[in-house]
Amino acid sequence: MEEVIKLLKESEAMLEGHFLLSSGRHGDRYFQCAKLLQYPDRAAAALKGVADRLRADIQAGRLGIDAIVGPAMGGIIVAYELGRQLGLPAFFTERDDTGAMTLRRGFELSPGQRILIAEDVVTTTKSSGESAKVLESLGAKVVALACIVDRRAEGVSAPWPLYPAAKVDVANWESTDCELCKKGIPAIKPGSRKF
Ligand SMILES: [Zn+2]
Repeated sequence: MEEVIKLLKESEAMLEGHFLLSSGRHGDRYFQCAKLLQYPDRAAAALKGVADRLRADIQAGRLGIDAIVGPAMGGIIVAYELGRQLGLPAFFTERDDTGAMTLRRGFELSPGQRILIAEDVVTTTKSSGESAKVLESLGAKVVALACIVDRRAEGVSAPWPLYPAAKVDVANWESTDCELCKKGIPAIKPGSRKF
């Protein structure tokens, strides 16, 4: 996990500072995993530990996976890379014009197909849950969740076994009660357009 943190920092995929998070809270770290995943060798290195743990559980009979699904955009490359390392097909769910998560492009599921969901960052498991709902409505079964960064707050449980490449604690506060604001440090709003 230390190695993964190093890769995230080297790629500027983990920024440390004072950030306005999408939740509206303020935090001391911000992740943009695409900055790491742009380098195929770093993507492979960051996810090797996850692939090894998944493979070990598959070989021990504790887990069965037929395919990997990465919710767009963040999960696509993570799913692909894990699929490459594990020899499994990898595809993705995506939002339609109304914002609803869907399975499109002719990707097909078979009844009972066992799915690993792959994400870049897991904070609340909300988007994984939306994908799981779609996949399960089509007859598949979600069996596990993998990610690069597990930055869940204490007490946020995952509905499936979670395989993170790194677990990172992010200090965060209500905007009205932010330790970094109190120090007079300006908050930065990271946005996809900036990257
Ligand atoms: Zn603040």
